[in-house]
Order: sequence, then C-alpha cells, then structure tokens
Amino acid sequence: METTFKNLIELQKHFSNEETCWNHLEQLRWNGKVICPFCNSEKHYKFKNSRTYKCKDCKKKFNAKVGTIFENTTIPLSKWFVSIYIATSHKKGISSCQLAKDIGVTQKTAWFILHRIREMLKVKAPYMLNSKVEIDETFIGGKEMFKHKSKRENIDGYVKKTMVFAILQRQGNVWTKMVNKVDGKTLKPIIRQHVDKSTMLITDGFGAYTGLNKEYHHETVNHIQEEYVRGEWHTNTIEGYFSQLKRSIYGIYHHVSPKHLERYCNESSFRYNTRKQKEDERFNYSFLNCNSRLKYQDLIGKKNLNILSDTK
Ligand SMILES: [Zn+2]
Repeated sequence: METTFKNLIELQKHFSNEETCWNHLEQLRWNGKVICPFCNSEKHYKFKNSRTYKCKDCKKKFNAKVGTIFENTTIPLSKWFVSIYIATSHKKGISSCQLAKDIGVTQKTAWFILHRIREMLKVKAPYMLNSKVEIDETFIGGKEMFKHKSKRENIDGYVKKTMVFAILQRQGNVWTKMVNKVDGKTLKPIIRQHVDKSTMLITDGFGAYTGLNKEYHHETVNHIQEEYVRGEWHTNTIEGYFSQLKRSIYGIYHHVSPKHLERYCNESSFRYNTRKQKEDERFNYSFLNCNSRLKYQDLIGKKNLNILSDTK
C-alpha cells in the first residue's frame, strides 16, 4: 500500500471524511474481495448508495464493520483512525482522559475505544524468536514494581499475581505475557512455544530457568554477584523494555487490574515490534486483527469502571 501519511496532521487530512475511512477499511479488510463475515461466502449483493452488502448464501446483511472492533459504535471512523494512530505510535500510549479531550468524546467512550484497540493489537498466532534472546520476568504494580529484582522480597515463584514475563530477541521482536506464577513449570512451556531450539538464551540466575541448558545454549548473568554485564551476556535490552512498559503503565494508570494487564502487554509488545515501521505502515498493520470484537460488557465484567482508575 502506498504511503499515505507521515504524521498525525497528514493522517487527519487524509482521513478527513467518513467516505475515505470506509474505503480504507474495506480495502484493508477485503482487498477487493468481499467476504461474508457470517459464512465466509464470496457471493453477495451490494445495496445502492450504501456500504451494506447482503450475502447470497446466508442472506444476512453486513458491512465492513461487522465482526470488527468498529461494529455497533456510532463513533465516526475518522475518530477511530486518529485514536489508533495515537495509541500505536505514541511511545507511552495515551490515557483515556487525554484521548477524550483530543478527539472530543467522553472519557467513557475513549476508554472503550482504547480497550478495543488493545484487543486488536493482540497477536493471534505465536511467532518464533531465535538468534540471541533475553528472558526475564517482573512485577507490575505495587511497591515492588520499581525495585531491582535482587532487592525484591518474596521472589520464590509464588508472588503477586501481577507478574509479567517477556522473551525478547535482540534486534527483533518481543513476546510479553502476564503470568500467575514464575516457576519453571509455568515459564518453560512458554519459552518452548516461542523460542527456536537453535537460540542462545540469556537470563539471570533465577531458579525457574535452571535446566534450560539441556535444551538451549543458555547463558546466565548473576545479578546477586553484581555481575550485570559480561560481554554480550547481559539482560539490559529486556530490562530496558520492562522500564518502558512500567513507565507507560505508571504514567497513565495508578492501578492496573490483572484483568486488563494482558491487554497492556499486547499494546506494549505491538509498539516494540513495530518500532522500525513507518507511521502509515504501523497504522495499516495494526488492522490485521481488527476483526476481533470486544463488547463493552466483556470489558467491564461484573465490576464497575473504577477497577481501572485512569487518573491523568
Ligand atoms: Zn453469508
């Protein structure tokens, strides 16, 4: 797809009317081959002067929004597009209060938009990492969050439920996941699922990683002995990634519930993995998973909105 914009101003100019936005959505979703979202049939009628289609097989009506994060909202696509751009290109993301002001909607609406976008950024199929890979785990939230691992208490595999585990390929992609436990039984299967056997693993001396040298080339850096950097055997890249993740969460949210943490992990991974893409490439790429709809009820569950106190 040709370059259409290089910054927010150009994006807004390009997608200034709903017509252009609709065309872009149809193009990204169908690429000229309209498919029924209900039965995958390619046979359809198109309604005149409208974006609506009717499937010849299942007889249901649909448009490009059906089955996507944009379905059943009255929010104009131009606002969605600006929100997607901001949420994916800003290094630290954006709070719902700020987005609400920026695009002129209520905070509740902005919160809803951001959560649907995060759902869209979720990677559906696992991708394999290889070459040199750093692995680490960290606390999100609470007093322990900003302490160095060696200074934290109680790190025996059964700590707080807000633990985040990440696997990062140097010069490559990261995989971030919320975990309930940080023991070998929990972490090793995730490593096997995402890391190719030819890979050089670099971890600290944390017990959960013991035994990985039977399956991988495994180098450990001993933090307790203050050995943070030994040539190229260090975990500085992943620690830098975690600091960024924490700053973006802490800069925007005072409390982040485990329920929502997984989505921030998706957002954070996405931003890291697309860091080298051009603005319009990243924008279009983010639509890959737009057909994963998340209902407002699913987002808030049974609790009220206060579980996520969005303060700035
Ligand atoms: Zn159909």
